[in-house]
Amino acid sequence: MATRIDGKAFAAGLREKVSEAVSTLTREYDLVPGLAVVLVGEDPASEVYVRNKGKQTLEVGMNSYEHKLPDTASQSELLAVIEQLNNDSKVHGILVQLPLPDQIDSQAVINAIDPDKDVDGFHLVNVGRLATGAPGLVPCTPLGCMMLLKDQLGDLSGKNAVVVGRSNIVGKPMGSLLLAQSCTVTIAHSRTQDLAGVCREADILVAAVGRPQMIPGDWIKPGAVVIDVGINRIEGKEGKTRLVGDVDFDSASAIAGAITPVPGGVGPMTIACLLRNTVQAACAANDLPFNLD
Ligand code: NDP
Repeated sequence: MATRIDGKAFAAGLREKVSEAVSTLTREYDLVPGLAVVLVGEDPASEVYVRNKGKQTLEVGMNSYEHKLPDTASQSELLAVIEQLNNDSKVHGILVQLPLPDQIDSQAVINAIDPDKDVDGFHLVNVGRLATGAPGLVPCTPLGCMMLLKDQLGDLSGKNAVVVGRSNIVGKPMGSLLLAQSCTVTIAHSRTQDLAGVCREADILVAAVGRPQMIPGDWIKPGAVVIDVGINRIEGKEGKTRLVGDVDFDSASAIAGAITPVPGGVGPMTIACLLRNTVQAACAANDLPFNLD
């Protein structure tokens, strides 16, 4: 039976380290890291995410700034908010909650953020830094996956890693991080042939597809470490809904060496890494050393 990788506990430990780093920065350098979150519109799921981010930011002792714009906001109105935050020395991290309404070009907005405040790591400069191995801000979800993998495996060098999914926010940056750890990396997607066969070769399997329980146990190499990024809501018992991943947890647990559950695996790591990235950005902006890994 696979080891259950407890992302919830790991994320709590990371938040504790962030909190200690924040109190040291506050005490010794009079520096309180600040995270600004910008929300456009009233999407209920986005509102929940933004509220959680704000709450956890305050809990670790950082300043939290929330900017809400109506869903009719124009691109130039949003860009004006970004410019103001770029110029605000109390703000070290800026996050624009996605998705944005149709009238707004998301990538243009992301690229307007000062790359050194881009705590989501989506700015083209940070994408380039990650791809070339230069220091920069790394997208939170893949960063969280990598922390769990290193904790589980130690050295990843030479491992055969398969990432299913090639999105800019998860699949591609995950591939870059695995390559940086000297894994042999395959990024699979909807056009991949013999996906089952590709997955069966993986010592490390990262699923970031968005299809409930798509990967069954018999696609998994015995002993593999499986990281399930997927968050899918499906019909449960008695008309209730429940969350499942992209991997069929029960059959996969019988074969894998270790596996993240959904919920309680990768999910909690994302906000914890966002807080970590904000401390990284605050340290960099003030020429202070950063060591939280
Ligand atoms: P996207 O929809 O942007 O990308 C999905 C990827 O899966 C695409 O590359 C797509 O291929 C591929 N894909 C779709 N169907 C198949 C298939 N049948 N076989 C192989 N590949 C397939 O999703 P995201 O990367 O944004 O998110 C993926 C999942 O992770 C979602 O469930 C999301 O909710 C979850 N998520 C969780 C986070 C967390 O905090 N834990 C954060 C972010 C996302 P193609 O490119 O060819 O279309």
